[in-house]
Formats: sequence, C-alpha cells, structure tokens
Amino acid sequence: MGLWPIVDHIAALRERPVIAFCTHSHHDHAGGLYQFDKRLGHSAEAKIFAEHTRENTVTDLLDPAVIKTAPYRGFDGTIWCYPPAPLTRLVTEGDVIDLGDRVFQTLHLPGHSPGSVGLWEAESGLLFTGDALYDGTLYDHLYHSVPEKLCDSLRRLRELPVSTVHAGHYKSFDKFRMQTVIDEYLSGQRSMLCPRSRTL
Ligand SMILES: [Zn+2]
Repeated sequence: MGLWPIVDHIAALRERPVIAFCTHSHHDHAGGLYQFDKRLGHSAEAKIFAEHTRENTVTDLLDPAVIKTAPYRGFDGTIWCYPPAPLTRLVTEGDVIDLGDRVFQTLHLPGHSPGSVGLWEAESGLLFTGDALYDGTLYDHLYHSVPEKLCDSLRRLRELPVSTVHAGHYKSFDKFRMQTVIDEYLSGQRSMLCPRSRTL
C-alpha cells in the first residue's frame, strides 16, 4: 500500500537493481509503486497509475479501521490515496522479463481488472497471480471487473504446469489447490457476485 518505505528493505535482500512489476493498479498492490524507479504494468491501466483517484484505485472501498497504526502524523485513511506512479515500461501478453539468471513471462489475466497481469516462470513452474487468483472469494464485482473475462483467464491458468502459485492475497498453493479454487469459482462459488444469476 505504500504507507511505509519498502525499497531499502528489498535492496538489502539482494544487491541488484530493483524492478517493480505491478500486477494491477488497486491501492493494496500499487500503493508502494512510486518508491521504485522502474515501474512495470499493463497498458490497460496505465492511465490509472498516472492519474489515479480514490475511486479508480478502489481506495474508497478500504476500511480505514484495518490500518491499526497511523504511518505518519496526520494520516487520514478516509481521504488517503497513494502517490502517482506512472509506469516506465508497459508490458503485455507474452513479454519476457529476463533477470539474467531467471526468466519470467508476462500473462495478461483480465477480469478482476482490465490490466491484471501475472508472472510465469516456466522453468520452475512458479506463478504470480496478483488478484486474478487467490485462495479466497475472488473480487469480480469492482467497477472495471468483467466476470466473463476472469473466467477465461482462470481457464487458461488451470492448464499451466504450475508448481506453486504465489497469489496476491492469502497463502501460496500448489496446482491441485489451484484447480480446485478455479473449479469452485467457475461453478459459481468464490464470487463476490454470488449468488450468480447466470451460468458462465
Ligand atoms: Zn485488486
């Protein structure tokens, strides 16, 4: 969320340049993006990253009570919005993120938001999904969510030879759990829109 500085802590882990790959523009994922010099994200949400509001970053849905300790004097969770963080590189489906010793591929996973992107490392089977998939009720009810597209994105993920999914929320999980979660969503469970009025 960017309420506290994080860059120094990450740089301390590995003395290498840091690239921030942002899965989407919502406040609980992109709030700290402004702290990085290299900011990658999908073009479909570039305008939000640069010209954000509490509404288009869904900050207006944040319950201020979840922030137990004010990050700075005068902090007001009812009006807070993260600082602007224009993307420095636009990514899209199939883009390769080559770190030298590890290679990731960008997956465009629209549905939760139009520019949701994941990272896929084919060699290890690691998958980073952001909010496109996590082991919980999936948010498909936001102003720019499209449940039908989320279904398509999840059907695609279901076929990947995944070893571990590192999701945007909750614990990481394996392929079996991934398929279970996806099947439950596709059958009408795990949706914020539940009960579903239509068959997807
Ligand atoms: Zn989100």
